Amino acid sequence: MTTPTVRSADASGATSDRGHVGDGESRAHVVVIGAGFTGLSAAWELARRGVSVTVLEADPEVGGLAGTFEVQGERLEKFYHHWFTNDEHVNDLVAELGVADRVVYRPTRTGMYFANTVFRMSSPVDVLRFTPLRFVDRLRLGILALRARGVKEWKPLEELTAEEWLVRLGGREVFRVVWEPLLHGKFGPFASSISAVWFWNKLKLRGGSRDKTGAEMLAYYRGGFAALADRLAEEVVRLGGEIQTRRRATGLRVRDGVVRGVETATGTIEADAVLATTSLPIFADLVQPHTDERYVASLRAIDYLANVCLVLELDRSLSSTYWLNVNDPGFPFVGVIEHTNFEPASTYGGRHIIYLSKYLPEDADLFTMSDDEVLDYCVPYLERMFPEFHRSWILAAHVWRARFSQPIVTRHYSAMIPAEQTPVEGLYLTTMAQVYPEDRGTNYAIREGRRVGVQLGELLQRPSATAPTAD
Ligand SMILES: Cc1cc2nc3c(=O)[nH]c(=O)nc-3n(C[C@H](O)[C@H](O)[C@H](O)COP(=O)(O)OP(=O)(O)OC[C@H]3O[C@@H](n4cnc5c(N)ncnc54)[C@H](O)[C@@H]3O)c2cc1C
Repeated sequence: MTTPTVRSADASGATSDRGHVGDGESRAHVVVIGAGFTGLSAAWELARRGVSVTVLEADPEVGGLAGTFEVQGERLEKFYHHWFTNDEHVNDLVAELGVADRVVYRPTRTGMYFANTVFRMSSPVDVLRFTPLRFVDRLRLGILALRARGVKEWKPLEELTAEEWLVRLGGREVFRVVWEPLLHGKFGPFASSISAVWFWNKLKLRGGSRDKTGAEMLAYYRGGFAALADRLAEEVVRLGGEIQTRRRATGLRVRDGVVRGVETATGTIEADAVLATTSLPIFADLVQPHTDERYVASLRAIDYLANVCLVLELDRSLSSTYWLNVNDPGFPFVGVIEHTNFEPASTYGGRHIIYLSKYLPEDADLFTMSDDEVLDYCVPYLERMFPEFHRSWILAAHVWRARFSQPIVTRHYSAMIPAEQTPVEGLYLTTMAQVYPEDRGTNYAIREGRRVGVQLGELLQRPSATAPTAD
């Protein structure tokens, strides 16, 4: 379901245009590539500053990785999504858009599947009851979480891998039982090179999203995350911007080292400035003909993992846990997320929603299997985890894949992050691989999108600083 005001390129038949600039004004025109939360937030800030803006989105809908599909007439994320209570940039945005009442906060249960058993891991007391570890190691695990949250200076952590840091904080046995399977399950071949900074952030964020009793609280947007993306898109359009879905940027028009426009299959859109919000490999393809090899190589130096989510609609609940870490790298998924232990099943006509999530390299079997093969492959593992589960509970199954879903954050990552200002004048890059020391997430997409939108808007408002106009 697309916002009515968002234009689909199928209907536009455009060949060459400048978005909304044809009103006789010589307003600067910016093309934003990508209508995920970064692109939409940037476009909103630009439009608010009177800058003419066109957002190009390859998909049929806005929302990017937080995009949705329909279950029983209700929108549901293709990839599980929640916010933490301390996601301040989301909180600011919903307040400014007047939709704060659509955010719901709910307690959630966390668990861990280890050695064929599901353990509750929602509170400090659960940690003390975690029998796979000796009592002294349970204490170490609890202290580790507290010490991680107490770290203020993240720079020294850049020296360490996650493994080095976690072993130092909690000991080898805690690492072997709790963290190693998670690192391997999530990062596979990259597990041993993941930076301590990445892991520190995860512990800090998740640990900070708790109520006074230590129980986890998470937030959700009624109607799905894409409903918020739609709301943002509506605002962009109301302020005179344009959003064109099903219109992929296929190239850049650059002359004399200055960006002049964006090419698409249905024509070129002229621009005074271009902001790319796609993943780095996609941006590298776009910019390659116009920059030197070293720059392109620096963009390609950051690896990404893909993700597969198998989404099951069940006729009953699987367990009472929302988020179950699977601490067994032999399983084809690293998390079982029962979304309807967070947002009630009644939202989806009584259906219970389960995500089985796996991050993996793009050439992994699971990423290249057909949807039916993914289902057949995963179900026996689910039966092993939940012996009472039966395949007949599945009312529908969906498989979603994202090629560029998780940048690989290695040691000294700060030195690898490409600059926002690219070697091409007027061409800017704001993408989730630049989110650091935090990890990618809609909260940071909103923060970064708004920040660059404000900066670019102010730059283009200054008469002397206006980027060269396309001829
Ligand atoms: C499995 C999974 C679970 C997640 N869970 C959470 C969560 O619980 N909470 C949370 O906050 N975040 C979560 N995230 C992360 C969150 O979805 C992203 O960080 C955020 O959506 C990134 O937004 P973005 O706009 O930077 O990028 P994207 O959402 O990737 O947007 C980029 C857009 O560019 C478009 N595009 C690409 N190439 C072109 C082209 N050539 N022309 C035009 N358009 C193009 C894409 O279609 C896409 O819409 C999760 C991500 C994954 C993969």
